[in-house]
Amino acid sequence: MRWCVFCGSSPGNDPRFVEYATVTGTALAENGHELVYGGGRTGLMGAVADGAIAAGGRVIGIIPQQLDEREVAHRGISDLRVVGSMHERKALMAELSGGFIALPGGFGTFEEYCEAVTWVQLGIHRKPCILANLDGYYDPLVAQFDHGRKAGFISPANREIVQVVTSLDALLAVVSRNTTTERILP
Ligand code: AMP
Repeated sequence: MRWCVFCGSSPGNDPRFVEYATVTGTALAENGHELVYGGGRTGLMGAVADGAIAAGGRVIGIIPQQLDEREVAHRGISDLRVVGSMHERKALMAELSGGFIALPGGFGTFEEYCEAVTWVQLGIHRKPCILANLDGYYDPLVAQFDHGRKAGFISPANREIVQVVTSLDALLAVVSRNTTTERILP
């Protein structure tokens, strides 16, 4: 299976998050999965790619021309695809991947993850959307999703599209058992 990983282009302040990204990349490769990601070499993005590469995995990086020109692309990955726009990038990421994992990150990560969830909501695809709430990083975002459900803006069924794992072990368990490309939604 191919997993698309969204995560910070920054390393964050806590070095554990870089370590988690590296371990996630390694686990994907060791379980025979391919990594699809944004193609960057910095922060958690670079770490997840480096982890997969070091374990002999195939990595597909998809980067818009504009970012490639700023030399943020990872030159060590097997398959770097330069596309015309952010929209093309996200469409290709979704097309190539059987599921999505959001590791800690910032606005870019939030936006990419929420778009994947929205596409399930709209019936564009039915691919699993895993939110890796490592060390409670996403507690406020999960609380916001629950707030949206209670306020009637997110239906209970759509709230279930967000599949939260709360530890690295739980994330690795998903990665090691998941060979299907889609989950059965309620
Ligand atoms: P952020 O969480 O704001 O750091 O954004 C990270 C997400 O946005 C990644 O999953 C990428 O797809 C995209 N992105 C943001 N900045 C970069 C960058 N410098 N290089 C490549 N992709 C980036």
